[in-house]
Amino acid sequence: MYLVDYHTHSRCSMDSETPLTEMVEAARAAGLRELVTTDHLDLQQEDATILKDWDWTPVVEQYEEARKGAGGLKLLLGIELGGAQTDPERSERLLAGAPLDFVIGSVHNMSLAAGSLDFYYMDFRDEAFARSVMDDYIGSMLELVKLPCFDSLGHLIYPLRYINGRGGHHLTLEPWQDQVDTIMRTLMESGRSLEFNTHNGEEVLPWIPVLERYAELGGELITIGSDAHRAENVAKGLEQAVEILKAKGFRWLALYEKRKVHPVAL
Ligand SMILES: [Zn+2]
Ligand SMILES: [Zn+2]
Repeated sequence: MYLVDYHTHSRCSMDSETPLTEMVEAARAAGLRELVTTDHLDLQQEDATILKDWDWTPVVEQYEEARKGAGGLKLLLGIELGGAQTDPERSERLLAGAPLDFVIGSVHNMSLAAGSLDFYYMDFRDEAFARSVMDDYIGSMLELVKLPCFDSLGHLIYPLRYINGRGGHHLTLEPWQDQVDTIMRTLMESGRSLEFNTHNGEEVLPWIPVLERYAELGGELITIGSDAHRAENVAKGLEQAVEILKAKGFRWLALYEKRKVHPVAL
């Protein structure tokens, strides 16, 4: 199995303290063939302002240093771009600052019009409120997916992580199926990938209906990632993810280098 982890964070993300060298060690121990470091570059900041500038120096320096110790592991430089739809031009400008192999496009916050709050900090006990948050989120995803600035659409079911996990609900994407279809078709038409994000191995099965629909629509390109913020979570759930992809009829895993897709047989 050509196992890779295309979504990991290091101490260059504000919510991780792990040096990239430790993520690399864990990836080698897990037998991964490729590891992509995808620290956060979020345009929507925690204080609801938009990021103005970005210093790539620590990210690129850490990457170059870690590559020396990667041995047979292919270490690639990626980024998780958050909230690109809030300022597409700025997104393009910031991305041009580093020799990136791979960009994940994600939405972690409410739209600017709805206050830009990070889903992570929200209280989802009220189900009607949770549904209204999903309306807003899907609207943001519809805007994001039109932009050319990313390669794989990050964790499409992201708010459900908190709505169901903390809020105790059982929502799926089903009420938003028409919009989700549009998101998937737009991805396919532009040759981009959908991400299967296992969230440290804790979110594998909730992806099954999403993958089934993507396959039904003719979607083929999928990237897989653990979203590990700590070494012990690198590659968590990815073997199971690959088994599910095979069982659902997918034939390829999307790999990237210098932002070009290279599918490899599953
Ligand atoms: Zn994310
Ligand atoms: Zn992430």
